[in-house]
Amino acid sequence: MENGCRVLIPILVIQLLAVLCASSQDFDFFYFVQQWPGSYCDTRRSCCYPTTGKPDADFGIHGLWPNYDDGSYPSNCDSSTRFVASEISDLTSSLQKYWPTLACPTSNGLKFWSHEWLKHGTCAESVFDQHGYFEAALNLKKQVNLLQALENAGIKPDGRFYSVEKIKEAIKEATGFTPGIECNVDSSRNHQLYQVYLCVDTSGTNFIECPIASSSRCYGKIEFPSFGSHGREDFLDHEEL
Ligand code: 5GP
Ligand code: 5GP
Repeated sequence: MENGCRVLIPILVIQLLAVLCASSQDFDFFYFVQQWPGSYCDTRRSCCYPTTGKPDADFGIHGLWPNYDDGSYPSNCDSSTRFVASEISDLTSSLQKYWPTLACPTSNGLKFWSHEWLKHGTCAESVFDQHGYFEAALNLKKQVNLLQALENAGIKPDGRFYSVEKIKEAIKEATGFTPGIECNVDSSRNHQLYQVYLCVDTSGTNFIECPIASSSRCYGKIEFPSFGSHGREDFLDHEEL
């Protein structure tokens, strides 16, 4: 009996810890965040095109971010995990197209994807492994065509100014859900359409109405800049993982 307890108690303690650890990574919903490349690139910081060349003039994925209903969010939830590039080799060409990196110095994207997996993806390990996380984001991207939704409402990336409300309405019309809109400022200090936030349920597959509004930093009319020629291709300096 005493020997049985000696074995059983540590097992129970380990199981209890596993349950506690898993539930401490819980979250309420995901933000699925897409960025307009024109607005990333025309800022004072500028941008660098990936080693694979200038991305399409389309919204690209920034990330799939677990979030709490009170507006706070978990991050870097598993220090014991690593990003393993070979686990997503079947997704690489889709990621290059739909989740391109624009940060400098020029890179192939692995650094951006690794950052997003470690900072945000590890907080959804109760739902996804690394491959599942990127696959889910790509599937969400295929479900919404933001550029088409905006163009259907006459909102084009032509450097003109459009009302934030009209932008939200156009996306709601196409997706059924009200997005969050985030602005940044270009090198002439114009406020412009930078990121679009849509909310997704905890399975990572269905869009939902957002439990809370994301921070926005934009009001009234904002610029929708073209994706011009602000980027660089500083291949001399590129860093691979
Ligand atoms: P910023 O400070 O530029 O708004 O955000 C910097 C980074 O913090 C984002 O790229 C993202 O990784 C994280 N972040 C900012 N706001 C949110 C949020 O509302 N939810 C989550 N999950 N992450 C956020
Ligand atoms: P977050 O703001 O999500 O915490 O961090 C984004 C990180 O990914 C930053 O270190 C940023 O330099 C890097 N990054 C690489 N490519 C991109 C990109 O295309 N857009 C954004 N927003 N960040 C990128």
